This record gives sequence, C-alpha cells and structure tokens, in this order.
Amino acid sequence: MSSTSDIKYDFMSDTLTKPTPEMLQAMIAANVGDDVYGEDPTVVDLENYVAELTGKEAAMFCVSSTMSNQVAVRSHLPQPPHSIICDDRAHIHRYEAGGLAIFSQTTTYTITPKNGVYITAEEIRNKLVPHGDVHFCPTKLIEIENTLGGSIMPLDEVTKIRQLANEKGIKVHLDGARLWNVCVATNTDMKVWTSQVDSVNLCLSKGIGAPIGAILAGSKEYIERARYYRKLMGGGWRQAGVLAAAARVAIDTVWPKMALDHANAAALAKGFASRGVNTVIPVDTNMVMLDAKSGGVDVSKLSDECRKFGIRVRSSSPDVIRFVFHHQIDADAVDLVLQAYDNTHSKH
Ligand SMILES: *Cc1c(COP(=O)(O)O)cnc(C)c1O
Repeated sequence: MSSTSDIKYDFMSDTLTKPTPEMLQAMIAANVGDDVYGEDPTVVDLENYVAELTGKEAAMFCVSSTMSNQVAVRSHLPQPPHSIICDDRAHIHRYEAGGLAIFSQTTTYTITPKNGVYITAEEIRNKLVPHGDVHFCPTKLIEIENTLGGSIMPLDEVTKIRQLANEKGIKVHLDGARLWNVCVATNTDMKVWTSQVDSVNLCLSKGIGAPIGAILAGSKEYIERARYYRKLMGGGWRQAGVLAAAARVAIDTVWPKMALDHANAAALAKGFASRGVNTVIPVDTNMVMLDAKSGGVDVSKLSDECRKFGIRVRSSSPDVIRFVFHHQIDADAVDLVLQAYDNTHSKH
C-alpha cells in the first residue's frame, strides 16, 4: 500500500470520514452496558430514535451495512426455495462477498435498468418468478437501493414497486445506505420512503460520518428475528454504546449539513460539463460518476495530476471516474480537481 499521508482530499468514498471532536467526546461520555443482553442504554436510545425516524416499530444497530443487509434478507426468507430480485448493480448482489447465496440460500435475479438509472416496477413485474411449478424458485423479496451510484429512485416508482409487492404478497427491502442523502436532496421526511418498504438499512458510517455502524429497521417481530441472525453472524456486541453515541452525534450534526455535499458534487459536475465532460448517471446527491469517454479524459493522467494536488480519485471502471463527496471535503477540492483537469487536458 502506498502512503496516504499526503492526501488532503480523498474522493474514493464517503466511508472515509473521520469522527469529529464532538463524536469522540460523546464516545468518552457514553453510558454503556452489554448490548447482547439489550442493556446498553446508548444503543437502545439510538435504535429507538431510528425506529422513530423511519416510522418502524423497531431497529437494530449493526457493525456494517453489509451485515445489516445480509441479516435483513435472511430474516425475510425463512425457507428455500426462494429468490430475490434486485438491480444488477445492487450492493447486496455485487459487493457483499456472495452473502445472499451463503446466508440466505437464495437465487438472485437481476435487472439492468433500461433507463440506465433505476429499475422500474414494470421491469420487476416481468422478472417475477411465480409459485406453483417445481422447476421454479419463486420470488419472495424485492430489493431496492436508494441512492444507487448517487442517483435517486423517484418516490412514485418506489410506490409502484410497493403496490406490485402487495399484489403478489412479497416483501420489499430497501438498502438505504444513503437514504439520508435522498431525504436531503428531495427535502422529504424519511418516513415518506420507509413507509413503502418492509425493512430498511441505513448506513451510519458513510456520508453521515460515524466511524462504524449501520442500522436495520422494521416491524418488532422482524427485528426480533433479525437479532438471532446478527448473533449467529458474530454481530452480537457488548459495550457498543461508544459507537452508538458517535452515530447519534453524526445524525444530529452531520445530516443537517448534507446539502453542502450535494452542492459541491453539482458544482464539480457543472465544471466538467462546461468542459464537455458528462456523467454516466444524474448527479442527484453526493456522487459524480464521470464519463471519461465523453470528454476524452485520460483517466490515469487526470488521477496523477490530482495526486500532485493531494487529491485521490478512483476509477470505478476503465471509463468512469467516481467522485464521492462528504462533509470533510469542501468546495476547494472542486476547484483543485478542475484545475488538475485543465492542466492535463487543455494543452494541445
Ligand atoms: C457501502 C454500502 C454498503 C455496505 O456498507 P459497509 O458498511 O461497508 O458494509 C451496502 N449498501 C450500499 C448501498 C452501500 O453503499
């Protein structure tokens, strides 16, 4: 690994936030107990708070969104044969080490959205696997991710997916790792989104900025079941209140500032657009997925030049550079990236 000590702005991910002094202070002051016995008051407070935010009966603090999602799916799927439908780019499908097959013994049917941004209820309807034929593995769960790649699945589509699920008697899980961003960008209450799904995962260590954690919310009966699977996966933790305390500060202090991340991302996208470089999907929130081909961007030259300014960027595929904003990346970084681009691409 090369040293990262010279990096001032790191666009790799919004997981890279560091805890703020206020979070560290809250960690020191946290009142803790053994959460495996449900006796950590700070964890219980956080869970109750998020249950309220999401309008669900209960919530469960987890070590990561991967654990939260995997427990979520497992808790929806008691007995194979069963299958799940999700976007082909979904985190649960692509980036969770094959967990769906391992933990939930599920077949996964994926959809590549025709609109290039989000899957639709109609596409899901066409992909549903019915009950009643022994050849088939019936659909028992629809999984949606919002945001996905920083783009928002609109509420009316979410609502149509809910209606379809109701019609077919199947469940919906929302991987809302970045649902915080959706609420800010659309200026809507979180319940507007979460009321449409049976369960929701929220990441606490991405744009919200807590050092560690994610949280799963759903019905009381569902979360009680989920607690078994979290324990089974080694996720029963003891004095987790130190982390829950930081997470609560993150929600209270970082979430209200999130619109700034979106404004910075929009400014970067605009700067690139004025230079003839487009994005592959809409910049609705904190991510800019730059289409390198559209502007003849030389990915390695740009990233080398950025590095001279103390900026690290990542190409998420050969032709896409992903810039992820969070509360510890400010507007200066936007100017520096555009300057780096001009240094490498304007000379002919
Ligand atoms: C990052 C991410 C996850 C996984 O989060 P970890 O905390 O790294 O396990 C799950 N879903 C989505 C949409 C994510 O962006």
